[in-house]
Amino acid sequence: MPADDLLARLAALLGPRRFATGAAIPARNAADAAGGAPQPPLAVAMPETTAEVAAVLRLCHGAGQAVVVQGGLTGLAGGAHPRPGEIALSLERLKGVEEVDTTSATLTARAGTPLAEVQAAAEAAGLLCGIDLGARGSCTIGGNVATNAGGNQVLRYGMARRNVLGLEVVLADGTVLTRLNKMMKNNAGYDWTQLHIGSEGTLGVITRVVLALHPRPQAVQTALCAVAGTGGALALLAGLTARFGPGLIVFEAMWHEFLEVARDRIVRARVFDPTPAAAVLVEVAMGAAADPADAFADALGALMEEGHLADAVIAHSEAERARLWAWRESVYEYSRLGLPIINFDLGVPRVAMAAAVEDLRALARARWPRSLTVMFGHIADSNLHVVVAIDPADGLSEVAIEDAVYAVVAGHGGSISAEHGIGVIKRPWLGLSRTDAELALMRRLKATLDPAGILNPGRVLGPG
Ligand SMILES: Cc1cc2nc3c(=O)[nH]c(=O)nc-3n(C[C@H](O)[C@H](O)[C@H](O)COP(=O)(O)OP(=O)(O)OC[C@H]3O[C@@H](n4cnc5c(N)ncnc54)[C@H](O)[C@@H]3O)c2cc1C
Repeated sequence: MPADDLLARLAALLGPRRFATGAAIPARNAADAAGGAPQPPLAVAMPETTAEVAAVLRLCHGAGQAVVVQGGLTGLAGGAHPRPGEIALSLERLKGVEEVDTTSATLTARAGTPLAEVQAAAEAAGLLCGIDLGARGSCTIGGNVATNAGGNQVLRYGMARRNVLGLEVVLADGTVLTRLNKMMKNNAGYDWTQLHIGSEGTLGVITRVVLALHPRPQAVQTALCAVAGTGGALALLAGLTARFGPGLIVFEAMWHEFLEVARDRIVRARVFDPTPAAAVLVEVAMGAAADPADAFADALGALMEEGHLADAVIAHSEAERARLWAWRESVYEYSRLGLPIINFDLGVPRVAMAAAVEDLRALARARWPRSLTVMFGHIADSNLHVVVAIDPADGLSEVAIEDAVYAVVAGHGGSISAEHGIGVIKRPWLGLSRTDAELALMRRLKATLDPAGILNPGRVLGPG
């Protein structure tokens, strides 16, 4: 089908409010959060129903037209960033929480619903959505599932995958697959829904999601703990796990360089003096403890006596809690540094974490000494984030830095992506984390579900 004919049919299907071309294309649809130069798509389709998503895909499939799937556009791997000539299929109008079933403890939402709305609906019903991340106000539940998002509470509730019970997905040819399962146990045949979780829009378009909800944690206590480096952080993790078990819900490590940048350039306050080798933001649900604040302080005191932490600041109010979180969230303000940034999202087995941190530090000192290299991470989940703010005086390209960092990670048996996915940005290094046989299987699955290769082409897997 010639492109003009396809565009005319899509325009007739969706009408002018939900289909845009040329100058009418909203600027937001030209880029995701990965930092690439804006690239307006050929057109933007904004369907409001699953049937419309299916109709759009049927037409594009028939015409061999490439489609980029867009949720909240907060992805950090470039997966939703348009490539020239693609039609953007935006889920922004397919939104709303359809149901909260308090008996089954499930929530059903349309894919374009912002995560914050899903969380609020769960909370209003006295329950908790187990997925939480810094982009909660803009990212969508469909995007969270498509990327198998992690975030701040993976330690307790798992990644998106562990929270999904059912999905509705539209395949590239317009076939609608509906499995809005609410049961924890359901072994009737292959669970194809798992295949779509983390597939980054390359195998189908998620249109509805059923989430398992959790009881709300009670009496949550927050503290920022100073520790003696990576080994100290892991010892604290072991001590807190032994004491609180599943009550430990947040364990966010930040290393020395990260704390110094936050102190001097973003938070502009002092918390520990001198800055420790590392600090960990900890949250524990104390449940029905008679005096949760005292019990938490006593536990931290005992851990300090055992040598698991050097110092701690405990939050006694919501405002103090927000001030402690500001240290961890300072990383979202790095655009203020005015330098090109590379965000690494690395998986490192806990057992190799201390060595990997030291090797990365030594690498940065030797190869890009003028650039700023900081580390933080959800280390209980084996997730280490490294941010490099590149000083051009080091004379190194982004790719040279990426090559060097990924080689260290591969050497420690780690992963080039813990939670953000592969998208286009990390595609060249996928072979460091997956074998040839695994990559061949992924290509076969892609060819089966999207034989014309129209869905998010070039993401995750390269051509051929
Ligand atoms: C400030 C900030 C903090 C962040 N913190 C975290 C974090 O802690 N943990 C974490 O994992 N990520 C984090 N991210 C990354 C990002 O928020 C997540 O990847 C999020 O899940 C993306 O959701 P989205 O709706 O914005 O998806 P988009 O960016 O629109 O898309 C992401 C990918 O999913 C595909 N996709 C989107 N919607 C669908 C759908 N309905 N069906 C099929 N495919 C779809 C897209 O094609 C693309 O490949 C953070 C990002 C920012 C900006």
